[in-house]
Amino acid sequence: MTCEHAAKVKPVPPRTPTGCEECLTAGTSWVHLRLCLTCGHVGCCDDSPGRHATRHAQASTHPVIASYEPGERWAWCYTDQVGVDLPPQAVPYLR
Ligand SMILES: [Zn+2]
Ligand SMILES: [Zn+2]
Ligand SMILES: [Zn+2]
Repeated sequence: MTCEHAAKVKPVPPRTPTGCEECLTAGTSWVHLRLCLTCGHVGCCDDSPGRHATRHAQASTHPVIASYEPGERWAWCYTDQVGVDLPPQAVPYLR
């Protein structure tokens, strides 16, 4: 399976660099953070109660996220359900 989405993303700076956008608004907690490489949405992972990264991907159809955890360098395509190489252009926006 090959992913055509990762090479096409044009990452933008994180909208909420301090945490999950929805959790910050609601005052809830998260486990790990993920960055949407289409719009800069920061959401929480599927181990978090809110699962806001996945819910954002489903609502927006933005395909590719990257880990927004310090030092982690990987990306995932929701459309293809496959791990993808981290687009180099996203690196400046990660932690
Ligand atoms: Zn893809
Ligand atoms: Zn969240
Ligand atoms: Zn997005």
